Amino acid sequence: MYCSTPHIVLKKKKKDYYQARLLEVIQKSPLEDKANCDHYDQCGGCNRQKIDYKKQLNIKYEQVKELFLKNSFGEINFQGIIASPRIFEYRNKMEFSFGDLNKDGILQLGMHPRGRRFDVVTVDNCQLVDSDFRLILSTVIDYFRKFNFNRYHIISRKGYLRNLIIRKGLNTGEILVNLITTSQIEHDLSELSLQLKNLNLEGKLVGFLQTINNDYADDVKCEKLITHYGRSYYYEKLLNMTFKITSFAFFQTNTFAAEELYKTVQNYIDEEKDKVIFDLYCGTGTISQVLAQKANMVYGIELIEEAVEMARENAKINNISNCKFITGDVLERVNLLKEKPDLIIIDPPRPGINPKALQKIIEFNSKKIIYVSCNPKSLVHDLADLTKANYNIKEVKCIDMFPHTHHVETVVLLERKHS
Ligand code: SAH
Repeated sequence: MYCSTPHIVLKKKKKDYYQARLLEVIQKSPLEDKANCDHYDQCGGCNRQKIDYKKQLNIKYEQVKELFLKNSFGEINFQGIIASPRIFEYRNKMEFSFGDLNKDGILQLGMHPRGRRFDVVTVDNCQLVDSDFRLILSTVIDYFRKFNFNRYHIISRKGYLRNLIIRKGLNTGEILVNLITTSQIEHDLSELSLQLKNLNLEGKLVGFLQTINNDYADDVKCEKLITHYGRSYYYEKLLNMTFKITSFAFFQTNTFAAEELYKTVQNYIDEEKDKVIFDLYCGTGTISQVLAQKANMVYGIELIEEAVEMARENAKINNISNCKFITGDVLERVNLLKEKPDLIIIDPPRPGINPKALQKIIEFNSKKIIYVSCNPKSLVHDLADLTKANYNIKEVKCIDMFPHTHHVETVVLLERKHS
């Protein structure tokens, strides 16, 4: 996008654009500068680091505005884009893969190179995470390079090493390391455990886990969880509340920008009037708990059982008694909610809301809806239905949760047109 005269090969025709592979840059875009990271030219982890950060923000904001304008929602009150408080070392979670860069090459642990999703490049100097992540990654790859273990190969279905997930509470310093392997080899990990424990980290290692995953699919599944050291969870603090997080639980990956996101939602609440709140697609219940201080009752619905259990536990830790969390699909579970909501918060996954579930949400006829979205395309699609029903778009605000990538978070406040 930011190369003015690239040489490309067209790969796929999408609905309204072509996907292409870049062959060569003949002339650099005037927007292009130097990247901060040694791996940038090879790694597919981020794709906008060469653009000045203020310009990155502007591009994202303009793209969201353009999408809204294309959809003819009428006059819209755009409230700008909030920058991420940290633009480097901002991620609290990273899922690295084991693999190789060339056939039968030396073992790598890191990210997929741009456009090469079966290969892996070691990113021991990644700038999206802090020095503790980098030190742990280097220690793990140095340790495993001494052995002859194969990384897991998705096609042959053979091999031992799959992924390394590192999570860190950026406000607490607590670090959880989870090594994902198959069970094709039995290997004693006590030496690696000791090495990790003795690292000179800025934060503190609170747990070293091993997840056994023999599934053929590429994403991480947990057949068995072994705790080699410490505990299987860590704590993070956010807006003065404490959250207990396990290795696979959803938690916003940029803690400091998440605080900005939740403050934005909080500011849209009318303390006098918004007393019964539904938090749909609530994950571990962070938004519910942030809003509970202002409401009489908050009801959260979330598909993943483990996330709901943690939402309940976290509410207890934070002495919150006016949140009720329900496990299941929003489509079915909203039928259980008998109270009339003053406000509905919706924060769905990237594909947006199931149209039937959206219809049920509309039928609650709440005065206000706040839609939090990580995908502007599915957002405007759902907004089209909401505005055709009984809602006006009052305000739109963007938050940059993912500096140096094309992703952007958007918060939309909607108000009911007629009572
Ligand atoms: N609001 C939360 C998490 C939002 S992520 C936060 O800020 O932390 C979206 C969540 O929707 C995920 O936790 C996912 O598990 C859940 N989800 C996906 N499909 C769902 C469905 N059909 N019904 C209920 N929850 C769903």
